[in-house]
Amino acid sequence: MDNDVRSRYILQTESVIKQYKQYDETITAVNRVDIKIEEGEFVAIIGSSGSGKSTFLSCCAGLDKVDAGHIYIRGQDITKMSHDELSRFRGANMGFVFQRHNLIPQFTALENILIPTLMVNKKDGSYDETLRRLVKTLNIEDRLHHLPSELSGGQQQRVAIARALINMPQILFADEPTGNLDRANADEVLDLLIKTRDSIGQTLVMVTHDLKIASRADRIFRMDNGVLTLDRDYLDGKRKTINGY
Ligand code: ADP
Ligand code: MG
Repeated sequence: MDNDVRSRYILQTESVIKQYKQYDETITAVNRVDIKIEEGEFVAIIGSSGSGKSTFLSCCAGLDKVDAGHIYIRGQDITKMSHDELSRFRGANMGFVFQRHNLIPQFTALENILIPTLMVNKKDGSYDETLRRLVKTLNIEDRLHHLPSELSGGQQQRVAIARALINMPQILFADEPTGNLDRANADEVLDLLIKTRDSIGQTLVMVTHDLKIASRADRIFRMDNGVLTLDRDYLDGKRKTINGY
């Protein structure tokens, strides 16, 4: 397959395998996963705990090394990039919201949000407008100079989301981003992510337990024992697994 075909997709994986070896046991966390995601799509990944969702997302974002296969972001194989190349590429193109927020405890909320701006060569102040809009929408304006330990779980997660969006990445990976938010906050955060997607044509790849949130995605995939498949029940409109959850 040539490069042109690949670059039609913002994210394409080919037979990705990721294994963990513990003692004499090998766990295949991601087992030959192929996925093609178009620019601007909102894709949700559901599946039971331990099925490999987080591992797959980390591999796609280049945070974890694959054991086999390829991951193309905008036609470029990130599994072939050097550490430095990948860091730059990630800073310019990707955002990531972790399952646990991973804020740096010694930095204030504002400093945490601005970390990704240090990785890309944007003009000073070019993120000011984005920052203003994000902190307002996420309702963390009056928490910016506090340390993570002085924020509630929900506020910490909203700071992490602002950090992921500050560079307005073309692709956002989110691992249960609304996991520690209450219903109203979860819906609001999703609204913000969808609004951002609509305004900049961002692609959203989200792992979620929240089937109300998954139901707003363009496509839902299910991870089962490292194998990723399109959720046909949902597509067929049966929604048995969804409603019966
Ligand atoms: P999910 O996000 O769907 O809950 P994970 O991707 O976290 O699943 O985990 C998939 C499998 O890989 C699980 O069996 C888990 O125990 C294993 N696993 C995840 N991370 C590691 C690791 N760092 N070392 C060893 N095994 C791991
Ligand atoms: Mg997980």
